[in-house]
Amino acid sequence: MRSHTADYDVVVVGGGLSGVAAAIAAARLDRRVALINNRPVLGGNSSSEVRVWVCGATAHGNQRWARENGIIGELYLENQYRNPDGNPIHWDDVVLDAVRAEPNISLYLNTDVRDVVATGPEGARRIESVTGWTMGAETETRFVAPVFLDCTGDGLVGHLAGARARLGKESRGEFDEDWAPEEAERTFLGSTLLFYTKDVGHPVRFVAPASAKSILETPIPSSRIIRSGDSGAHYWWIEWGGELDIVHDNERIRDELRSVILGIWDHIKNSGEFDAENLDLEWIGNVPGKREYRRLVGDYTLHQRDVIEQTRFDDGVAFGGWSIDLHPKEGMYATGAGAVQRFSNGVFEIPFRSLYSADVENLLMAGRDISATHIAFGAARVMATCAAMGEAAGTAASLGLARRTTPRGLYENHREELRQLLLRQDAPLIGVVDADPANLALSARVSASGVRAGLGPSDIAVARPHPLTEDVGVVVPVHPCLDGFEVRVAAEQDVDLAVEVWSTGLAQNVVPERLEHAVTVAVAAGDARWVHAPVRWEPETPANAVIVVRAQTGVTLFVTDELPPGVLTLVHTSDAEDQNVQVSLDELLVQWPTKPLRGRSVQFRVPTASEALAPERAVGGYQRPFGGPNLWASAPLTEAEAWLRLDWDRPVVAREIVLVFDDDPDIELNTLHHHRDPHLVMPSLVDTYRVEIQVAGSEEWTEVATVADNRRRRRSHPLPPGMGAIDAARVVVTATHGAPEARIVAFRVQE
Ligand SMILES: Cc1cc2nc3c(=O)[nH]c(=O)nc-3n(C[C@H](O)[C@H](O)[C@H](O)COP(=O)(O)OP(=O)(O)OC[C@H]3O[C@@H](n4cnc5c(N)ncnc54)[C@H](O)[C@@H]3O)c2cc1C
Repeated sequence: MRSHTADYDVVVVGGGLSGVAAAIAAARLDRRVALINNRPVLGGNSSSEVRVWVCGATAHGNQRWARENGIIGELYLENQYRNPDGNPIHWDDVVLDAVRAEPNISLYLNTDVRDVVATGPEGARRIESVTGWTMGAETETRFVAPVFLDCTGDGLVGHLAGARARLGKESRGEFDEDWAPEEAERTFLGSTLLFYTKDVGHPVRFVAPASAKSILETPIPSSRIIRSGDSGAHYWWIEWGGELDIVHDNERIRDELRSVILGIWDHIKNSGEFDAENLDLEWIGNVPGKREYRRLVGDYTLHQRDVIEQTRFDDGVAFGGWSIDLHPKEGMYATGAGAVQRFSNGVFEIPFRSLYSADVENLLMAGRDISATHIAFGAARVMATCAAMGEAAGTAASLGLARRTTPRGLYENHREELRQLLLRQDAPLIGVVDADPANLALSARVSASGVRAGLGPSDIAVARPHPLTEDVGVVVPVHPCLDGFEVRVAAEQDVDLAVEVWSTGLAQNVVPERLEHAVTVAVAAGDARWVHAPVRWEPETPANAVIVVRAQTGVTLFVTDELPPGVLTLVHTSDAEDQNVQVSLDELLVQWPTKPLRGRSVQFRVPTASEALAPERAVGGYQRPFGGPNLWASAPLTEAEAWLRLDWDRPVVAREIVLVFDDDPDIELNTLHHHRDPHLVMPSLVDTYRVEIQVAGSEEWTEVATVADNRRRRRSHPLPPGMGAIDAARVVVTATHGAPEARIVAFRVQE
């Protein structure tokens, strides 16, 4: 046996996606990081040991423009390229490669942290070290660092350090949560094992082992949908342990889950009710995926209203968008739905104060153990959201070291600096405008080769008829005002067509929330032609509008496969049937899905000029859709190469040029076998470009980078040392991965 001590700047305990993102974030800011995981594979519940698919703010495509950027965004894009079939083994390597690519990370796999040395009085503790045992290597390591991150999911580090934690459900009154029980109760979301099946191409029998449970003696067959073709995360509802102690009863819970899986498989194979002759069991998980245990208490506790009412925080450092997704404590033995879900109208913010312990001054946390009530945790717990928090917490750990302060000190004195740093790194956060004093682009004049003409689909887009049997909503950016809307229509008889402009409420929302103007347009019977609706709206600041065209018998709109930047199509629905999940049709997000016409646009025109896609949108913006697309879109590349240019009145000395391209955050990219997207690379991404500068006093362009086959959203190009001051910089785009125009979300020049 060996024993040694290792010193780091930052120690991250737990290698789920929150820990992975935290470690990468801190390492990229030049911190020496130890990432410790007690299992051999990174990824936590998303790893091939558990196989939960990674979901996030898109909420399976229910939220709009909501896919996370940042580190989890990079993992999504890489996985889509390398592993479009969603093989969990390849996902493991996507995650491992991302960690191994950071020379500042020392990875300790198979290393279980069990001891924490903390000093100081209750309420003001400080962690001095944590100690882990590496299985198979008979090695004990004491990790010493000035700052620690608890990404264990279970909040074990915080618990051992003396941090307060919440377990179970808060009472309704404590945080004024109408979804909470009247009295607090110590029950949880249960744990789950998943299983995979495969068609072996010939009949195969299954002899149930003694441990298989007879599921006919349980409510499962009548209250859950069992389909022979389902596999993996489709069986999320095989859940149990909510009335036990999730951690201390972990072994018992695993045995029960495994016996039920074998019982379900016996039912599928041997009941005669399923077409399953050639199906065999390929894999059963052995590590229970835990949903819930401790939530460490921070300086703020995220609660139901923050999610549903989308509280704006001046320390918002990450966002979520998953519904508040709560499960019955009886899990798979409950007779009602396996989950009830409640959506906010758009993505919600997570404040930094929920990411550090109120009692342990050098402890940050990210993932399912953050400071939240049970109800808010129900929305924040999905893994891309956990990774977004991890990126924020890892970035904060680094900034805290630079500013020689605690996380609380960072909140009190440097929270805007933290948000600007996150934006500079292209971390996923919303509603933060680039005001980075180190971004020289903010003081430059911005110009471009051109701008995409109009907001609607181009004239060459092929259109198909779409009968107007349901209300249709066309989401368009309004910048600065809307004065008329034209839509291509055919009508079987003379009709009055109702056209309305709706505002969306908060800038991140993309639902018709408030009626701003309504008109009725007389449409005579006849073939397709442009119809002008004289709707008007002038918001105080740039905003998205939803132009609702009300359903009308005998009227046809036309839809194209070309979806212009900043545009989405909503279709009103009155159907939300799913036996396993209960959602509410009272919610705008559920009433107005994008799914029926995803990726397609109604043929429309906006006759007034718009600034929504102007070159200035790539500088000093939000770097995400927020009240508009916040990007520059060029004229079609078929006309000429596209360039975006910055000029300074006085020469500037720059260190690095950072580009952020559009990777279409509306598309859900799931890591496993769900909602498969056909594109290996998002078509909106820039493929080929070069970066050029003009050295002060010179009219010549000097190339500093040339890139082909780009697959990333954020690219950083350091300027050669000794280059001196520059007068101008530009990016020249010659190809995208499919979009007709170049799209640039941010052009930053960092000093
Ligand atoms: C069955 C199931 C279905 C779910 N459905 C979804 C879904 O569809 N999509 C989605 O995104 N999310 C889903 N979730 C929620 C999500 O998986 C969790 O909330 C999320 O994994 C939490 O991330 P985390 O990084 O905090 O913790 P985890 O993913 O649990 O990772 C924690 C890591 O820390 C390690 N660790 C723990 N203790 C120690 C220690 N003492 N020392 C060293 N390492 C330690 C663990 O081995 C693990 O690798 C589901 C969860 C379950 C169980």
